[in-house]
Amino acid sequence: MMAKQYDAIIIGAGIIGAALGLELARKGWQTLNIDKLPAAGFGSTSNSCAIIRTYYSTVDGTAMAYEGYHYWRDWHEYLGVTDESGMAEFRECGTLVMKVEHNGYLEKAMRMSDELGIPYTELTPEDIPNYIPGADLRLYSPAKQADEEGFGEPTGGEVRGAVLWPHGGYVTDPQLATHNLQRAAEAAGGEFRFNAELTEIRRQDGHVCGVTLADGTAIDAPVVVNVAGPHSYKINDLLGITDSMNIKTRALRHEVPHVPAPSNYDYAKLGTVTSDSDIATYTRPASGGMMLIGSEDPACDPQQWVDPDDFDRHLSEQSRTQTLRVAQRNPSLGIPNQIRGVVDLYDVADDWIPIYDKTDVPGYYVAIGTSGNQFKNAPVAARMMATLIETCEKGQDHDAEPVKYTMEYLGREVSIGFYSRNREINKDSSFSVLG
Ligand SMILES: Cc1cc2nc3c(=O)[nH]c(=O)nc-3n(C[C@H](O)[C@H](O)[C@H](O)COP(=O)(O)OP(=O)(O)OC[C@H]3O[C@@H](n4cnc5c(N)ncnc54)[C@H](O)[C@@H]3O)c2cc1C
Repeated sequence: MMAKQYDAIIIGAGIIGAALGLELARKGWQTLNIDKLPAAGFGSTSNSCAIIRTYYSTVDGTAMAYEGYHYWRDWHEYLGVTDESGMAEFRECGTLVMKVEHNGYLEKAMRMSDELGIPYTELTPEDIPNYIPGADLRLYSPAKQADEEGFGEPTGGEVRGAVLWPHGGYVTDPQLATHNLQRAAEAAGGEFRFNAELTEIRRQDGHVCGVTLADGTAIDAPVVVNVAGPHSYKINDLLGITDSMNIKTRALRHEVPHVPAPSNYDYAKLGTVTSDSDIATYTRPASGGMMLIGSEDPACDPQQWVDPDDFDRHLSEQSRTQTLRVAQRNPSLGIPNQIRGVVDLYDVADDWIPIYDKTDVPGYYVAIGTSGNQFKNAPVAARMMATLIETCEKGQDHDAEPVKYTMEYLGREVSIGFYSRNREINKDSSFSVLG
């Protein structure tokens, strides 16, 4: 039987894969997203905190995040379709970041915001209880494990203030957002195939020519894009190209406890996204009066690099530790006996900055290493990848002459070479989920 021919096969239908399907389909490409799971956004995207924020440790990262914010703000216009399952919602509750030594009191972040025209407000310590009533502003760093001596004891001094970035918040349902993208991609002619596990990427004369699924189905395309999230390195291994890349990716296990929000104030009204590097946690409001608690990966917490096909999905003591850390700043937070939440994987690049690039195999591209912080950037990353793929397929050698991309909203030209697989480790990175 003749294999069906596409212009591009996208491995993965998470938030970035689905967005890439949409962007290429809108350029007139015949695309196919394949995913081994039963629906769009069922992989790591489904457990994303889906926080939209506009502060990063590099100007390029910050510009990308601010550009990405606009897509969420204009979500319905961007998609141009109505999803019968409903539309994901962007709650623009703002993001409150504590000024602490660990982040250089946010001086650099504010300078980058000034450069890019991102609005923000500086808050004094006296302002902070307007957002976190009863906040304990004493410092607790360095973060400790809960069973370490001194855990929960102040270490001297107080938070110097905070910065409120109003253009931020969170997307209510990351999986639904991915389904929204699928519907928009389909409206543009893109196709999706689920319960379809890729086991082989085929080559002819060195150039990719298609993929083979676990059930033996062969599908042909001259372009194949790895957007497999935490499985990214396994897909690269199929082609044996991992060693040809300077920056590599690995799967890192993370826990996100979902705990009842403080009940002594109107959290639904006052609650912002918070990032507090003193207590090494970030938080986000969620429906049903809940608070989500993520970790900013302090040095004391063991990093759990895992096999994405074999890891523990149960919460551990780590979730209690994260909750206790938040309670240091927000003493009205109750600590449930039984903590609920989610466990999922980041696809971490060596310097926690994604790889949006071509590879040494002609026709094979990667949008990987999203390092726990690229949900917000999915639409812009996808548009940038579509530009990269189109330009490379027309013959430009991106390694020698990096492709440029002009952001739609900011009008800013960026070199996609910033995200190269062969870059040197970017020393400006936070080397954490903060990017
Ligand atoms: C706990 C957690 C919290 C996060 N919080 C935030 C946040 O607040 N803000 C933010 O911006 N980002 C956040 N992120 C990061 C963000 O969610 C990811 O960067 C993003 O979802 C990655 O999307 P993706 O499409 O690349 O990957 P995924 O959603 O992982 O999709 C990859 C897909 O590839 C499929 N696949 C893999 N191998 C195969 C194969 N062999 N054959 C077929 N299909 C295959 C998988 O089934 C999967 O569906 C968080 C991530 C996690 C895990």
